[in-house]
Amino acid sequence: MFRTLHARLILVLVLLFVPLASVFVWLTLRSSQAYFQELTQEINLHLADSLVADSPNLMIDEAVDVSAFSDLAKMLAMTNPGVDIYVLTREGRIIGASVPPGDLGRQAIDPTPIKVFLSQERAFPIVADDPLSSSGKKIFSAASLDGGKGYLYVILADRTRGSLLRTILGSTVLQLVMWGLGVLLLLVGGLGIIAFRLLTRRLRRLEQAMTTFKEQDYMLETPLLSQVAKPQDEIDRLQNVFSDMASRISEQLKGLKQVDKLRRELISNVSHDLRTPLAALRGYLETLQMKSPTLSASDKERYLAVASRQSERLGELVSDLFDLSRFDADAVQADFELFPLQELAQDVVLKFQDHARDKGIDLRLELAPDLPQVKIDLGLIERALTNLIDNALKHTPAGGEVRLELIKEKDALLVSVRDTGTGIPQKDREYIFDRYYRASNERGSDGAGLGLAISKRIAQLHGADIWVESNEPRGSCFCLRFKV
Ligand code: ADP
Repeated sequence: MFRTLHARLILVLVLLFVPLASVFVWLTLRSSQAYFQELTQEINLHLADSLVADSPNLMIDEAVDVSAFSDLAKMLAMTNPGVDIYVLTREGRIIGASVPPGDLGRQAIDPTPIKVFLSQERAFPIVADDPLSSSGKKIFSAASLDGGKGYLYVILADRTRGSLLRTILGSTVLQLVMWGLGVLLLLVGGLGIIAFRLLTRRLRRLEQAMTTFKEQDYMLETPLLSQVAKPQDEIDRLQNVFSDMASRISEQLKGLKQVDKLRRELISNVSHDLRTPLAALRGYLETLQMKSPTLSASDKERYLAVASRQSERLGELVSDLFDLSRFDADAVQADFELFPLQELAQDVVLKFQDHARDKGIDLRLELAPDLPQVKIDLGLIERALTNLIDNALKHTPAGGEVRLELIKEKDALLVSVRDTGTGIPQKDREYIFDRYYRASNERGSDGAGLGLAISKRIAQLHGADIWVESNEPRGSCFCLRFKV
């Protein structure tokens, strides 16, 4: 039932208004009753006096003149029905009554209020015991009889007598007040409901957004709620905090999922990549172990050389994997310095010169004049160039050419490694820099598809662009552009 804030607020409103309205009605009735009584008593202030003046001998020597009293009672019954008269002794004993004796609820009343009335010291209304009931009180008029030896006690007709409803229905003023109160309650209630609806609308929107967020598994494709530019109240601030929180959680979850996906890929790829050289290594070592006595010295030499090459490859693989994961975790700190890149290029080319000659490939360095210095981490850029030249030599047949070229551009230095090798098919070019990606031109090479991925991370760390151009099957060109 009251499961929404809106319903609860309305309940609170009702719970506040019902007792307030009841207290108000009760107070109004009480005060109007007192007012009526006061008025009646004041109007009839001298009623008893005038009755005594008309019948001066009602009480003689502390005894009631029965005939005079019954004449008076009859006269009153005709002129003023509802008014009861009694003759009391000074102590309050009832010695004469206009009502049948059987109707009396008591034989004596407390005379104190009568004395107060006669002294006229207290403000009206003054109430005294009603002889007709054993505990009720009524307004009255009274006069001394027989020189103060007794009282004529007149119980006045009380217009406020009867039920609450009759009192309200009987009074135009009260009816008006009640109508007014009713209309006011309806108005305030109606306005309250509208105000609560408006106030809780944003909360409902926020709650809906949160539920949607949960249903979407805490992943946001589009923002659920916009940011409030100038927050006005707690709800606005809550909305802003929620929007921030939701996008942060969503981003982190996406990141975690991505990392988890990469981790799975890494584990499966690593285990696959390590298994091949490990199996080869173990195979050669076991053969050496088992057939050692029968193997010739040159065979042993060959087996050992192969095992050594496999273990070297394993080492490189592990080191590449380790580096790549450090790049991915942003754990690589570059040590930048302004450096003439051509010097580094000369060193790298020199390093590969023998290998290129052995393969029958012409490895050349071409430097444009006035090359600017660039801010680089020497070790990392050497590694990237090494990867690119190594790849170029790997994919270029004997008689081919590999050229490392440094060109000055406007605000940039362009480094390109061009070869006349197999080229890279169009469909592979987009993925060539992804880790573990090996193009379809790969013919049983022992690469793991990590070199270009590492080169790309290095370029990114330097704010440099890296891309490939290729006119398959007529070689390819890997380019790096450094801003200067
Ligand atoms: P790998 O260690 O396997 O060579 P890389 O990330 O260095 O891994 O290269 C990814 C793939 O890109 C290679 O498998 C190869 O197919 C292709 N590739 C890279 N450089 C060249 C090149 N110069 N010519 C032709 N193909 C190349």
